[in-house]
Amino acid sequence: MKYWGVDRKRSRLKWRCPLYKCPDMCAQKKLCSPSSYGRVIHTKPKDDLRLFTKTPRDSKAWKIKFAKRTSVERTLKRILVDYTIERARLRAEKRWFWIASLAAVNQHLDAQVNKLGHSLFLKLGLIDKTA
Ligand SMILES: [Zn+2]
Repeated sequence: MKYWGVDRKRSRLKWRCPLYKCPDMCAQKKLCSPSSYGRVIHTKPKDDLRLFTKTPRDSKAWKIKFAKRTSVERTLKRILVDYTIERARLRAEKRWFWIASLAAVNQHLDAQVNKLGHSLFLKLGLIDKTA
């Protein structure tokens, strides 16, 4: 195969059959494409960090890092989707910041209510002791 450049968007290398102009001469005729463009293969370079990470994927360090990452994703989902910030029709950066701050406070309150539950409502006097 002949090197045919790099696809920067997909971070991969392109290889093309060198005999695409005369497909009958191709030694891999059965595998080669009958199209006028010839067979194309893409390979991933070894410096692609999405595939070849610095931290090995099966390691304990990877699991710890990924656990942190999933908690960040849950937080973002809670703020963006559950509190519907994405649907807010805002343009000013200050307003975005304000709404995101409110959502973060709300998320914290949700966690407190989940943790303290019934006793929190009792302390605040929102419900009777008999309830
Ligand atoms: Zn070929």
